[in-house]
Parts: sequence; C-alpha cells; structure tokens
Amino acid sequence: MIRTRQLSYHYPNGPALSFPDVDVTQGAVLLLSGPSGCGKSTWLALIAGLVLPSTGDLTVANQALGALNNVAADAWRAGAIGFLPQKLHLSAALTVQQNLALSFWASGQPEDPARIKAALQALGVHDLALRKPAQLSGGQAQRVALARAVLLAPRVILADEPTASLDDEAAADAVGLLLRTAKQHGATLVIATHDARVAKLIPTDEQGQARFHSLKLVRPSNPLSAL
Ligand code: ADP
Ligand code: MG
Repeated sequence: MIRTRQLSYHYPNGPALSFPDVDVTQGAVLLLSGPSGCGKSTWLALIAGLVLPSTGDLTVANQALGALNNVAADAWRAGAIGFLPQKLHLSAALTVQQNLALSFWASGQPEDPARIKAALQALGVHDLALRKPAQLSGGQAQRVALARAVLLAPRVILADEPTASLDDEAAADAVGLLLRTAKQHGATLVIATHDARVAKLIPTDEQGQARFHSLKLVRPSNPLSAL
C-alpha cells in the first residue's frame, strides 16, 4: 500500500514539486504518467525512501517513512521495495546470479541460491545465470533486473520508464510481465512512464478494476523548472 499526504519535494537548485495525495491499497496497480520533467522519478524516490519529502508524509507498506533514519530506511527498502530503475544498474563485473546475490547482502540476509534460481526461473532467464550483463539483450537484462527486484518478495514494485527504448512488441511484453509478476507476489505495482503506449498495454478489464489507479502529473509552473 502507498498513502501520501501533501507531499512536496524542493530541489535545492531546481523546481519545487508538489504531488497529489494517493491511497493505493496493497496489491493494486498505479499508472504514474505525465511528461518528462513532471516529477515521476522524484515521486518514486520519495516512495522508496531514497529522499525525504520537503513537506508532507507518506506510508509505504505499512511503514511511516518520516520515522526512519537513513540506516533504518536502507534496511526497510531492501526488503519492502523492489525497484526496477530506468537504467538497470546491473554490475558489469558480476554474473546474473551474482547480481541477484547482492540483494541478499544489501538486506543483511544470508544468500539463498535456491531463491535466486527460482526468481530467475519465474522470469524465464535461469539459463542466463552465468552470463555477464554485457552478454544479455535489452529485454533479457530487464527480466534479470525484474527478477532482482522481486527476489526478496517486496510489497511494492516501482518501475521507472520500463518501456523506454523498447519497440512495441517488447514494450507489451515488459508491461505484461510487470503486471503478472506483481500479481504473483501480491505486490503493489507502480509504473512511472511518459510513454503513451503503456496505458493502452494495460488490459481494459484490468483498468476497470477498483485496484487500478491512474495519477497524471503535470510539469511544475515554477519558472525555475524551465532552467
Ligand atoms: P520525470 O521523471 O517525470 O521526468 P524528474 O522527477 O526526473 O521527472 O524531475 C522532475 C523535475 O526536477 C525536472 O524539472 C528535473 O529537471 C528536476 N530535477 C530532477 N533531479 C534534479 C536534481 N538532482 N537537481 C535539480 N533538479 C532536478
Ligand atoms: Mg523519470
């Protein structure tokens, strides 16, 4: 679940962004859309507890984020949030399997090879376990990054521009995969995108459900944002 109230984030040398309140129940899907620069990635960073809001408060996966210091936020994030960043940030020197193992280390848990195998299998990339990221196609790398995101059974999955630079077919695969994976885990899913194709790729019956939310952000009117 994600609940925000009067959230804003002021970049020290940039725009002051304010965000509409949301109430997203556990297991629901939120499509976060709007033009480039409207604050989607910033909102994701707030939800992941990577930055603290300038004003307002938020509760994510039953945790009030204002109450956490940096160390506690890191530990919470490692278990509660599955992040699929726009740039995948797979370590080039490590194999696919080792990249997933890093998540266990980051969360202070002992590495569990069986869980790594299961996560890769669920996304159809287990045969790539011993490859390095440079030996993967874009779509394969994204599947690996999604396997890493859901490895520790997060309550919330945040996907930042998951269809950027994908052709129509790959974009449809990526969105379908995110929806299926989130559903399997009972996780709340946020897809942040400026890509108008994404709304059309989420099935109409899915969009008709009470568990589907759409939040459209607009570019801040603050003249600083144009700098
Ligand atoms: P989106 O993901 O919707 O494209 P962002 O959240 O990345 O939008 O950015 C929102 C606004 O904040 C933009 O105007 C961007 O230029 C600005 N911004 C982002 N990061 C910084 C930063 N580190 N310092 C100053 N301004 C920033
Ligand atoms: Mg962005």
